[in-house]
Amino acid sequence: EKLEKLGAIVVGKLNMDEFAMGSTTETSYYGPTKNPWDLNKVPGGSSGGAAAAVSANEAIYALGSDTGGSIRQPSSYCGVTGFKPTYGTVSRYGLVAYASSLDQIGPIAKDVKDCAAIMDAIQGKDKYDGTSLDIDYKSYLESIDADKVKGMKIGLPKECFETEGLDDEVKKAVKGVADKLSEMGAQVCEISLPFINYVIPAYYIIAAAEASSNLSRFDGVKYGFRAENYDGLTDLYNATRSEGFGDEVKKRILLGTFVLSSGYYDAYYKKALQVKAIIKKHFDDVFEKYDLIICPTAPTTAPKIGDSLSDPLKMYLSDIFTVSVNIAGLPGLSVPCGFDKNKMPVGAQIIGQVLSEDKVLSAGYAFQQSTDYHKSHPEVK
Ligand code: GLN
Repeated sequence: EKLEKLGAIVVGKLNMDEFAMGSTTETSYYGPTKNPWDLNKVPGGSSGGAAAAVSANEAIYALGSDTGGSIRQPSSYCGVTGFKPTYGTVSRYGLVAYASSLDQIGPIAKDVKDCAAIMDAIQGKDKYDGTSLDIDYKSYLESIDADKVKGMKIGLPKECFETEGLDDEVKKAVKGVADKLSEMGAQVCEISLPFINYVIPAYYIIAAAEASSNLSRFDGVKYGFRAENYDGLTDLYNATRSEGFGDEVKKRILLGTFVLSSGYYDAYYKKALQVKAIIKKHFDDVFEKYDLIICPTAPTTAPKIGDSLSDPLKMYLSDIFTVSVNIAGLPGLSVPCGFDKNKMPVGAQIIGQVLSEDKVLSAGYAFQQSTDYHKSHPEVK
């Protein structure tokens, strides 16, 4: 509504993983989206259709939602710029809830400046979303400034660059962003984020728990799909939910219900919340000394269609660099920063403290002022 009021023309809805659960868009009800850089590869997910459409020049920008990386990771796989703002800065009224403590809407665009312009249009307090922040919103377009990079302290978490499964070409390209910003006057140091091995289990417990609760409303009575053949109320619920949800969504509902059940609540859900508190504390400590953190958006470039579905654990692990940003409610930006030997785009992630979007966007803008990666487009036949 806000964009349309400003004159934007909405050209369509885009493909995504069902209920935003997935990292490849292969769990979409409509089937997979292809990566415009290589049609045998996935565009990432869950907002894979959005990133692919911007990359293929079908749209100037798109909106995505990001619960654990779904704006940043597909942006990285498709060579476009994606921004997940601070939790609470964009109203989620009308967005189907996945994990309410993590969900955030943001732009996927051609460059940082466009992301800033879209943020200016969509941010703000909304009385229909109790989690939307009541703060003095500034114009990011006016506040982004490449000169802000001078004197910035940027931390490179050593654990992220030593993670098992991190592609060497990704590592090199992401370090290149830090080198560029250092040439522009930033001070880059190695830091430690020792919680990195706990982020995936904590995220998949918290997200599944919240999803199991949020998705309980899809019962065939109030709204949405309803099974045609059933015998009584309980059977209506069972038939509707069995027929309506896809396998990935069912898996998450089962997992979420399990970790919230009375015998396992303390062992899993409560423990995950304790890990969440530790993650937040570590980020706070880092941001007392540093302005920004830079790490890869994802450990590899886009995988082949089919590979992730056959190895779901590997797919979950590919979210390792993005999920902690949602757990701590921080702003995170993915900028294109290079290509691997197969000419697949690599994305670097710039993370800032809560509400420090001007620093995050200024650093991304400075990088794009002196590089052309964001200007490369796939040849679309
Ligand atoms: N891949 C993650 C998941 O499946 C993140 C998805 C998202 O951000 N919507 O939960």
